[in-house]
Amino acid sequence: MPELPEVETIRRHLAPHVEGRRLTALAISDPRWCRPLAPAELAAAVEGRRVEQLGRRGKYLVWWFEGDVFLIVHLRMTGNLLHRADPGAPPPGHTRVRFALDGESAGADSLGSSAGAELPGEDELLFTDPRRFGTGELALGLDARDAFFAARLGVEPLGDEFTGAYLRALARASRAPVKAFLLNQKRVAGVGNIYADEALFRARIHPLRPADRLTAAQCAALRDGVVGALKAGIAAQGASIDDFRHPDGVRGAFQDEFLVHRREGAPCPVCGRPVRKLVAAGRGTYLCERCQPRPRARLRRQAASGTSRPSRSARTSS
Ligand SMILES: [Zn+2]
Repeated sequence: MPELPEVETIRRHLAPHVEGRRLTALAISDPRWCRPLAPAELAAAVEGRRVEQLGRRGKYLVWWFEGDVFLIVHLRMTGNLLHRADPGAPPPGHTRVRFALDGESAGADSLGSSAGAELPGEDELLFTDPRRFGTGELALGLDARDAFFAARLGVEPLGDEFTGAYLRALARASRAPVKAFLLNQKRVAGVGNIYADEALFRARIHPLRPADRLTAAQCAALRDGVVGALKAGIAAQGASIDDFRHPDGVRGAFQDEFLVHRREGAPCPVCGRPVRKLVAAGRGTYLCERCQPRPRARLRRQAASGTSRPSRSARTSS
């Protein structure tokens, strides 16, 4: 599944091609993409509008149209946005949505652009998605957009707000193992299985350590680990381990730079001990058991069962 760096890579590729241009057509061939909204309703809300900005929040790609109309896209498991090199060729398999953009330049007046489909330089983007879990949702106005994200996402990890102290305040409210804590989009937005493993290794924290038992120093290290892993992923233009491709079809390179993720049996880049695999939060999880020491069994049991000693609950509530 694409995570924050993969979505950010798509955004950076596409933004120069779409910002300032007008969406002439949004052809949705799979109504499941935008349900409960009907494809015609969604198309009517955005067609003919200029793209002010292509943004991102967590793993969502956010089309900001003039008039503060937002189309909020999630790639989920296998979604991808491809730049169609040859509009004459048949669309690739699993195309669910087609975005057509006019050829006018940013800032140009466009009163006469209703014939945009015929303008030279017209561009097309395709949303392809073999497993069909991807979504496109509409938000009308800034308040609706903010409410959409407030209901779904926690802190943006590459924003100024995400400090060690902020992370510690979040972690203290969660008894989940820290790997599960990181995967919860309502805590930290945009981190998935790859970047959680890489961040925990960078911070030298075992994935099963209960989040509320992290020290201030560990929270500071984890904040740096999350930011460092995400930035490394963006610098490598994402990881292509499954379906992820850049809009031009090129693969990302971050899979070649993983420190522990998917490296079972390979030497730890710090101590040389073989990387181990275990299951945490239901996901294949990779770590170095020397660099990321196991929590004591009692803490693990508490994290697994969600229970805590009464004395601890009393302390927490005081
Ligand atoms: Zn190690």
